[in-house]
Amino acid sequence: MGDYHVHLHRHGPYDGVGPPPGQYPIGHIEAYVETAMAKGVDEIGFTEHFYRCVESKSILGSWWRADPRKDLRDYAKAYVRSERVLSLDRYVQAVVDAKDRGLPVLLGLEVDFFPETVETVAEFLDPYPFDFLVASTHWLGAWGVDLSNHMFEFDRRGPVRSYEDYFRTETELAASGLFDVLAHVDVIKKHGLRLDHEPSDLYEELAVAAGRGATAVEVSTAGLYHPVREMYPAEPLLQRFFNHRVPITLASDAHVPEHTARDRDKAVDLARSVGYTERIQFRKRVGEMVPLD
Ligand SMILES: [Zn+2]
Ligand SMILES: [Zn+2]
Repeated sequence: MGDYHVHLHRHGPYDGVGPPPGQYPIGHIEAYVETAMAKGVDEIGFTEHFYRCVESKSILGSWWRADPRKDLRDYAKAYVRSERVLSLDRYVQAVVDAKDRGLPVLLGLEVDFFPETVETVAEFLDPYPFDFLVASTHWLGAWGVDLSNHMFEFDRRGPVRSYEDYFRTETELAASGLFDVLAHVDVIKKHGLRLDHEPSDLYEELAVAAGRGATAVEVSTAGLYHPVREMYPAEPLLQRFFNHRVPITLASDAHVPEHTARDRDKAVDLARSVGYTERIQFRKRVGEMVPLD
């Protein structure tokens, strides 16, 4: 069983815990593998954030700049500047080296979706030896939808428009077919701000797009540790993915070794409850269906 969403560095200013930003000592990677093995997980797919790597600066550009809301723009600019301290090339080399040493690791990347630059990003990443790419909608213009400091924007837009704007972008991402897995696919709910009804139409459009784009979706336990206290995706949304034959991966979104494969049983139970008996695994961006556990 694999954990297909694992980070090697935490967010925020470096506080001395773990290796300094952009450093990848082998012992750090081994710590993730040991935790995973102890939980019965035999494969770790690392997925460092592309936007945090210095190499992404010229590729992604200043995506917040065109947003008319100055408060969001100013925060986004400062946030990205403080977070962009990792090295894509060193990260790739560290995971490739770990693989060469026989560790059960895969080389992945978490890539933010921006409609304006998605083609350029895909071309830039193409020469790298990735096993899989997960893609995320973290930003709607200058609005960081999962940032707690940006929650005021949810109120400003109102819940209905917030959900519509988010799902429209996520659906466009799914339909692009440029990535292998959709990460935390309904992360707009992260802070517990929900609609008073189930957005069935938005769910259905997204599931159809993922099916057509041949993009898998992760079942992530990370939401259990945020105010929403619910996995991504919500059960009715996962049911729609199953109905449209969208494959799944299992994911923790760990940012420290001890969170690897966290609550794995709950993810498997949720997947089984809507009908899944298989998951997809990747090698060099080629998927293969294997039993769920
Ligand atoms: Zn993410
Ligand atoms: Zn992540």
